[in-house]
Amino acid sequence: MRAGGAGELFGTNGVRGIANSELTAEIALNLGRTIGSLRPGKIAIACDTRISSSMLKSAVSAGIMSTGSDVVDLGIAPTPALQYYVKETDCSAGVIVTASHNPREYNGIKFVQDNGVEFYREMDEESERVYMSKKFRIANWDEVGQLYMDCYGLRRYIDAIVESVELDKKYRVAVDCGNGAGSLSTPEILKSLGCDVYGINCNPDGRFPARNPEPVEESLDLLKKAVVDFNADIGVAHDGDADRAVFVDEKGRFVSEDVMLAVMAKHYVEENGGGVVVTPVSSSKCVEDAVKAAGGEILYTPVGSPVVAKVMIEKNAIFGGEGNGGLIFPEHLVARDGGMSVAKVLELMDATGKKLSELAAEIPRYCIVKGKVGCRDKKKLLEGLRREFPDANHIDGARIDFSDGWVLIRPSGTEPIARIYAEGRTESRAKELYEFGEKAIKKIL
Ligand code: MG
Repeated sequence: MRAGGAGELFGTNGVRGIANSELTAEIALNLGRTIGSLRPGKIAIACDTRISSSMLKSAVSAGIMSTGSDVVDLGIAPTPALQYYVKETDCSAGVIVTASHNPREYNGIKFVQDNGVEFYREMDEESERVYMSKKFRIANWDEVGQLYMDCYGLRRYIDAIVESVELDKKYRVAVDCGNGAGSLSTPEILKSLGCDVYGINCNPDGRFPARNPEPVEESLDLLKKAVVDFNADIGVAHDGDADRAVFVDEKGRFVSEDVMLAVMAKHYVEENGGGVVVTPVSSSKCVEDAVKAAGGEILYTPVGSPVVAKVMIEKNAIFGGEGNGGLIFPEHLVARDGGMSVAKVLELMDATGKKLSELAAEIPRYCIVKGKVGCRDKKKLLEGLRREFPDANHIDGARIDFSDGWVLIRPSGTEPIARIYAEGRTESRAKELYEFGEKAIKKIL
């Protein structure tokens, strides 16, 4: 399994691999038996638009029913819609079949807790132990679970977003769902909020004919053009399972994900008169600057969305998210939510009367340089980093802060490399800090 790392089935985002070769129907069946054994009751399931999603969803469902648990099938739905459903109903767990932003040949299976939050790392480890042991609950013939369909499951999520956001003005929004699961929710959310919607790639199609499911700037030329041609107020694009949203301003310019994270974090801190914002240690300093200037507190976590969600709950955070378009609005759901992100950005524009370019201009600018170097001895590197930089943040690798930037050195969990992230006020400063990181690794190894 590609994303799982050496000998591990579960990676940072559940189980992922190439469908029907790495991630087979047999694995899916036993993952269904695993979750059915661990969280007996009623288990909700949904999938993205991938060609292999029906096959894997059916196999997971069969595995769950064989343990005596019932399955509620929501069909195709964004990951946050499945998570919201599990949170709002009496389900004991949830399963989402998706490979998120990975290329079309991939698929994945991820477990969700009864409160709608992704399984934490330790829960995935427990799942892996049960999966490997094959000690499943197997029900008698007259006690196997039943399969129910809930075709209003997705509607519940759409309605919840529409009811929680109010817009006075009418907005024009260009939407690129990349033929993923967001095709079934985001245009509907926006229309229900009174927006004029210009949709591109909003027909569900698991071949992803228009672009890769990852909404990176280089693949969004069509959206930028749509914003300009349609005279839209904003443009938005999702990844394959629509838990992420990235934005284009009214001039057709991509707004970096870190800047959007800072815009929303600043807004939440101002609205609450303070509070805790949680983000991974790899996020841009512009988020910390914006949060602190507004009177809030920033808390860094290791990289990965489950740990961000976990810390948000523990610290009663008002907002959180990743610098990849994954924004978390805890009053609705402690999970990344692409549909809610669009609604909240429009709400902020409505409340302030500002355009997206104006909101983005309020955020301090940094230049970031990212790269990797070979690293076979992860332990030696981590020990060396602690020794050389005792004052750095060691929550995930080492983040060394300077007055005008920072550098993060992080050994990869799955590959024999160390990643370097460096950020400075200017490009030359960012490069300087990157070289500082390179030299530090060389000295230690
Ligand atoms: Mg995703």
